[in-house]
Amino acid sequence: MKETAGAQRLIVMKFGGTSVGSAERFRQCASIIARTAKHDRVIVVVSAVAGVTDLIFRMLETARTGDAAATELHLKKFESIHQTVIAELFHGLRPESALNFAAQVLGQLRSSCMALLALRTDVPAQTQDALVSLGERISAFLLANYLCQNGTGSEFIRAEAAIVTDNTFGNATPDMAATAARCHHVLLPITRRGHVAVVAGYSGATPEGQTTTLGRGGSDYSATIIGSAIGADEVWIWTDVDGVLSADPRICPEATILPEITIAEAVELAYYGAKVIHPKAAYPAIQAGFPIWIKNSFRPEVPGTRIAPVVPSEARPAESPVKAVTCVTRAALIMLVTRGDVHPAELIGKLFSRFGQERLDMLFSMQSSPDHTLGLVMREEDSAHAARLIQNTFRIELAQGLLEPISVQNNVGVIAVLGEAMKGTCGVLARLFSAVARTRISVIAAAQGASQLSICFAVPSETCATVVRAVHAEFCGPQNSPPPPEPAVIETATEAR
Ligand code: ADP
Ligand code: ASP
Ligand code: MG
Repeated sequence: MKETAGAQRLIVMKFGGTSVGSAERFRQCASIIARTAKHDRVIVVVSAVAGVTDLIFRMLETARTGDAAATELHLKKFESIHQTVIAELFHGLRPESALNFAAQVLGQLRSSCMALLALRTDVPAQTQDALVSLGERISAFLLANYLCQNGTGSEFIRAEAAIVTDNTFGNATPDMAATAARCHHVLLPITRRGHVAVVAGYSGATPEGQTTTLGRGGSDYSATIIGSAIGADEVWIWTDVDGVLSADPRICPEATILPEITIAEAVELAYYGAKVIHPKAAYPAIQAGFPIWIKNSFRPEVPGTRIAPVVPSEARPAESPVKAVTCVTRAALIMLVTRGDVHPAELIGKLFSRFGQERLDMLFSMQSSPDHTLGLVMREEDSAHAARLIQNTFRIELAQGLLEPISVQNNVGVIAVLGEAMKGTCGVLARLFSAVARTRISVIAAAQGASQLSICFAVPSETCATVVRAVHAEFCGPQNSPPPPEPAVIETATEAR
């Protein structure tokens, strides 16, 4: 349900880890928020300080395995990262509440680590979620406190108070109706008071109040879940690049900014490895119909990329059919070969329903009928789980020789090229694979998405960067540059004022 307050828009902005990576970065976020809050109602979602979530995961691993010295080192690092930020950020201000808050969180982490060191058991999933989400809790508190001390009224909100999820710890799904009720009750009164609500990203809680997390990189998702829950006009995701680029700039320095992409393109891009937006973050925006902006907190004057909630009626004429090239560098190819007289669809049906139950995602799959082979390309981190599942599900078929021993090939990379304009355009595959052929790298497997929005193919992992650059040069090089965006698009671009 949309709430209108005069001409004021309701904006949810999310700041990623690098955007709160230091005291200076916190100040920059605060200045962006303060400027926007002069005109609009603002709800902020914050990630942990860069590297902190990884650090907590490492800490839990060393505690679980009984390595007390390494655990202590990690705890000390956690403490010093936050103490440094607090000392620099609150220099000349009042740092007491920030220090107390950080000390409390550190105390919680320390006592949990001591218990794990003593027990040496696996970390229960709910304990892990309660602990890995603590980085966000501190950074949200620090930002809210800093804003207040600098004259922007703001209130810190724990993620658990805003987002209600199921109990799939580590990869929870939001209950949108319950979340909307919570957010209306907790967040909107804050904006009505003219204050900024600063919510910890990445996590939520079950209806019983147990902390859950939304998956790694999940603060983007927190922002769009909240955006949908409160009927936001727009969600702005502040990060460390100028927007969505035609390729990961770390792989392809010549990648260019895409002024606008469709939400379907964003979904594909994220699914195939572009970290700039979380794969699930688009769904709440699709349902609620608001645009998402990707913006650079280091260069707020750059308009960024608008992810349009609806597909534009027609592609711009001079546009290249391929908008972006992306890759997953760590994937695996699992091959299943059935005996000739076994109907593969039967096996596939059984297999895919088990994958669904276990929430295992495939990057792509291909089936070739004459030799009864099914190839599954998955993220490497899922491949061992998938292989075990196949062994268990087809124990009898494997024992009877109806299914040959499965093979798992690691060190595979998946490249995806995508763009709405590929739909119905002739010759894209020919151009794509000619560009790959010129690199002399051979393709292991390939598939075109049924929506014709993306084509993905697998190559040896170590060749990913070369192939991405070659394909990018073919479709997104200077000769393919789209015309400059129309002024109207930029003007409605809700640039931070
Ligand atoms: P944050 O900490 O702000 O959430 P992330 O590291 O999760 O930031 O995502 C931003 C990073 O995503 C960029 O630094 C960039 O290297 C990477 N990236 C990968 N593919 C793309 C792409 N197509 N466009 C922009 N950035 C990309
Ligand atoms: N801090 C969390 C992570 O590193 C969530 C996020 O940054 O979006 O996964
Ligand atoms: Mg991220």
